[in-house]
Amino acid sequence: MNIETIAIHSGNRIDPHTKAVVQPITLSTTFERGEDGQYPGGHIYTRMSNPNRVSLENVLAKLDGGEDACAFSSGNAAGSAIFQSLEPGCHVIVPADMYHGLKALIIEVYSKILDISFIDMTDIELLKKTIKPDTTKLIWIETPSNPLLKVSDIKEICKIAKARNIIVCCDNTFATPVFQRPFELGADMVMYSSTKYFGGHSDVLGGALVTKIKNPQWDHIRRIQALAGSVPSPFDCYMTVRGLKTLPYRMRGHASNALAIASFLQNHPEVENVFFPGLPTNQYHTIARSQMSDFSGMLSFTLTAGEAKARKVANCLKIISQATSLGGVESLIEHRASAEGPTSTTPTNLLRLSVGLEHIDDLLADLEQALKA
Ligand SMILES: *Cc1c(COP(=O)(O)O)cnc(C)c1O
Repeated sequence: MNIETIAIHSGNRIDPHTKAVVQPITLSTTFERGEDGQYPGGHIYTRMSNPNRVSLENVLAKLDGGEDACAFSSGNAAGSAIFQSLEPGCHVIVPADMYHGLKALIIEVYSKILDISFIDMTDIELLKKTIKPDTTKLIWIETPSNPLLKVSDIKEICKIAKARNIIVCCDNTFATPVFQRPFELGADMVMYSSTKYFGGHSDVLGGALVTKIKNPQWDHIRRIQALAGSVPSPFDCYMTVRGLKTLPYRMRGHASNALAIASFLQNHPEVENVFFPGLPTNQYHTIARSQMSDFSGMLSFTLTAGEAKARKVANCLKIISQATSLGGVESLIEHRASAEGPTSTTPTNLLRLSVGLEHIDDLLADLEQALKA
């Protein structure tokens, strides 16, 4: 089956009693036992499982071609479950340029329990040198990365990891399974913030882990999900399933608008640099082309005149809203350095743009007037 069809059908179950074509939301936290003490409906208690969550996890697993998926209450909760599944003292290698909130969680919580190295994940030689033969258990990839849109070589990293029995998890939030297929490149697990493109409408928080195969570590992650309970509500599962139905079509629009905007910004005199792997002049273009079928809707750019100009551009936009987050139908822009706070290493003249699905001419006109202001 093709991804458009999977997206529409794999998260939906026609109700056996009412024959409703769209699956109802099951709010009940508890499920009746049969006379024999078993649970004939297949569910016991909603922290453990729920019909809407099962449907969401089914479509999530199928979209990536994995064996199973776990849905979480946020992207960070999904990432957290992997770190919780590791034995204390394990060594983990993560990219220095990664989503700021997950990095903060790793530094503030997991570095007390695990041995963490932050490196430039695009530097393969550095990666090899950083691996500790006995204790490295996990390599974390985020590609393209947030906010610098660095692209790491998934296939090469997985090859190195596999030879040393290290698992690789790829944060695929920016690319989505529509444009990047980490399992086909050798990854063991894929992680998402479903708050972003999966939900797609900036109105539902969620996260996901997908596994290529079910193994004891995956069983452990499933137990962490069920016992710790950082699970999405039935309503949130329903909303994410609903958003996913249009994911493949939305991604095409995001990608085509983003490429047009990246090309426009690259030729604009006020713009110093554009970070977008879809531009042929981008340093990661070749590797991005080899592992992505298109370049998604995220880009960053720096202003020649510095931070004040960057903030002014963000303030002068009329259609593009100044707000954090990404992946929704509406375009959002953000001055990342100030959003990330004092520990940020993001250039202060950088704006990150989540390109939405508005008409491209309206977006270009908005950027043109704000850059001139
Ligand atoms: C937003 C985001 C996360 C965290 O997800 P939440 O749903 O906000 O917890 C992780 N990785 C990336 C790349 C993100 O953009």
